[in-house]
Amino acid sequence: MTMRFAFSISATDGAARTGVITMRRGAIRTPAFMPVGTAATVKAMKPADVHATGADIILGNTYHLMLRPGAERVARLGGLHRFMAWERPILTDSGGYQVMSLSALTKTSETGVAFASHLDGSKHMLTPERSMEIQRLLGSDIVMAFDECTKNGVDREEAARSMERSMRWAKRSRDAFDAGGEHAPRAALFGIQQGSLDQDLRRQSAEALMEIGFDGYAVGGLAVGEGQEAMFATLDFAPGQLPGDKPRYLMGVGKPDDIVGAVERGIDMFDCVLPTRSGRNGQAFTRTGPLNIRNAQFAEDQAPLDAACGCPVCGTWSRAYLHHLVRSGEILGAMLMTEHNLWFYQQLMADLRAAIMERRLAAFAQDFRSNYCAPRVAE
Ligand SMILES: [Zn+2]
Repeated sequence: MTMRFAFSISATDGAARTGVITMRRGAIRTPAFMPVGTAATVKAMKPADVHATGADIILGNTYHLMLRPGAERVARLGGLHRFMAWERPILTDSGGYQVMSLSALTKTSETGVAFASHLDGSKHMLTPERSMEIQRLLGSDIVMAFDECTKNGVDREEAARSMERSMRWAKRSRDAFDAGGEHAPRAALFGIQQGSLDQDLRRQSAEALMEIGFDGYAVGGLAVGEGQEAMFATLDFAPGQLPGDKPRYLMGVGKPDDIVGAVERGIDMFDCVLPTRSGRNGQAFTRTGPLNIRNAQFAEDQAPLDAACGCPVCGTWSRAYLHHLVRSGEILGAMLMTEHNLWFYQQLMADLRAAIMERRLAAFAQDFRSNYCAPRVAE
């Protein structure tokens, strides 16, 4: 019998943990970074190249896939894994966040969110039940409960109202997931904690989710404009309110220094478009901080993007060549910048896992920050 979902922690260091999630499509080493495969593709990367970076799992977006090519069509074509030829685990978001941030004419009620597609204006409805159905049609391995991402800066009354609605939707998500026939015994369902930056609301949300029961727990509603200091202040208490024996996922985060700080505070899983999107825009991540390869100073720079990087791009091509490709708008420029950035993120996760295993995370994090966050000279 294959394992549906198990999380085992190999070592802890302070609040940080390293371990492995076991699922039938493969193991996920934690802390894990999930590249974002919005439209059934991690942009500019073939699946085998994504796996070569060290990624154990990718993320797919319910909102985008339901609109194009459509969840029913993906199901008729054998599911998302077969469609895109990625056989390892896939986590899908619920669509709740993107429907609010991308579509026009949204109307939220207790039932769900009615909206017009950002592609063609067609009318759709997302509810906890429809979100579970779409994620089932896609064949998702880790399904996210449908929630309302509380906006940054709302008052406590509004944060409480929003969180309480998300908890009612979490229960409806659980019930709809469990009624999902053959999919439910093969997949996992994660709940999402809300409550803005408020410690008491976060505790109430955690208790409501634990009462329902999930395979893992996400910290939602962060990285929505509150800033790193406020995010870290919330992460000083929010992960500790969630079950210690289940994975904790910080949605939509983040910059490399955000990830290091969140791992120190007990987060196990991350996703972010930053390495892929910024790669296409000419930004490369390095151990001494991000650099913009378009800058004239790199026109004749024969060094690799990052001398400490073990990726195929840094092993083959110079900053000067990448500068030329990106400035010329060549497709290969977007491909190579993306590949390096995903390698950079996965090497960081591997370094974090090793540091926790050897109980030297504080020293690693201090060293990382002193290199990464130091003021840049002469760029
Ligand atoms: Zn590299």
